[in-house]
Amino acid sequence: MLTMMKKLTFKIGGIHPPQSKETPAGVIIRPELPREVTILLKQHAGAEAVPVVAKGDHVVRGQKIAEASGFISAPVHASISGTVKSVGPALTLEGRYAQAVVISASDDDYVADMKAIDAEEIRNTDNISPEDIIGQIANCGVVGLGGATFPAAVKLSSAGDKAKLLVIDGCECEPRLTCDDAVMRMHADEIVGGIKLMLKALRINRAVIGIEDNKPHAIKALSEACASEPGIEVVALKAKYPQGGEKMLVYAVTGREIPSGCLPISVGCVVNNVGTARAVYRAVALGEPLIERVVTIEGLGNFLLPIGISVGEVIKAYDKDGRYDFDAIDGEIDLINGGPMMGRSISNIYGPLTKGVSGIISVRHVHANVEPCIRCGSCQQACPMGLQPFLLESYGRHGLIAEAKQAGALDCIECGSCSYSCPSARPILDYIRLCKFKIRAK
Ligand code: SF4
Ligand code: SF4
Repeated sequence: MLTMMKKLTFKIGGIHPPQSKETPAGVIIRPELPREVTILLKQHAGAEAVPVVAKGDHVVRGQKIAEASGFISAPVHASISGTVKSVGPALTLEGRYAQAVVISASDDDYVADMKAIDAEEIRNTDNISPEDIIGQIANCGVVGLGGATFPAAVKLSSAGDKAKLLVIDGCECEPRLTCDDAVMRMHADEIVGGIKLMLKALRINRAVIGIEDNKPHAIKALSEACASEPGIEVVALKAKYPQGGEKMLVYAVTGREIPSGCLPISVGCVVNNVGTARAVYRAVALGEPLIERVVTIEGLGNFLLPIGISVGEVIKAYDKDGRYDFDAIDGEIDLINGGPMMGRSISNIYGPLTKGVSGIISVRHVHANVEPCIRCGSCQQACPMGLQPFLLESYGRHGLIAEAKQAGALDCIECGSCSYSCPSARPILDYIRLCKFKIRAK
């Protein structure tokens, strides 16, 4: 069912950065499976998973190689078959060391994996119980693919009987990324399948899919996929950043305001991304753990990549025009994990793909002079959380952490709209992040 009311959006703030979504969303490329993967043990919110394999073990694609280690945690699985080469520290995309399992594939492993990929089998889930759905999602290591990587089973099970509405985020409001658009266009049926399973797990019967109106193909694909599902509604939203933030999205589709410091469940909503919905479907209906995800590599395409693959090797294989010049990194070019608004700098492009990576883009360094604050108020107008970013920046700069907390620093969703809007090029978000870090450290 599609609702095309007057264009919905969130209440305050927001910006309109150029979308620049040049990477085609009408196709998803599956490259050859790699012969080696490096799978980090912590690629989710919460506690690091504990390895259950050792050097020399043989593992098969989809086998659990590390177990969740707390209430908020998730297991990780082998994304290719092969022999465990090592269990220990490995260099991440951010350039720091983290615990990982390295798996190396033989020719036989490779052939077996290719056969398995071609022989997908859909299970009958008609009579599956809510408990079994949540158990299977947990076992398969499904986490939020919109960026937060919060374990999906924990979110569903902790909603209890407060959940009234499932809100699905198909906004993809970050400029330059098109991976969610691609998943919506190419796998709308699987997304709807995942939504139906989540509704059953939550014991509710209503879901709303919010999609920005700059993605007409995705709106069409999902509207068709849920045409015979009266409980699932597609809502076209006016494109505005950061519409995909949970608080913004819930307001846009329901008009409900989530109070400061509270989660969507406080107003009866559970929010999940479209990619997560698809992963839920594949976990429950195909028994497939979260071992691959769709990633935008800007200008090269949207790729279905196994978790643990070297991002740099994929770029090298597909970058025929030299768009990603690795030699220029740390010079004029920065590679970013994520979009231009919320992404983080990459310092080791050969680091492994994790569940939380939605895109890779390159940005040219901008050498802007930081000027004094002119109290223009642009940052405040842009803030979707109703904060006074110039004040928080000043508190952060002067180490006034208690004042920053009082002024709502912890409500900041780090969307970057304030920094983007500042004519004085002030590093507002950097200081707010510092405040949040110090508040939490206390
Ligand atoms: S980064 Fe934080 S303070 Fe800045 S606009 Fe976004 S929510 Fe507001
Ligand atoms: S946008 Fe920049 S210059 Fe304007 S009030 Fe905010 S911090 Fe000051």
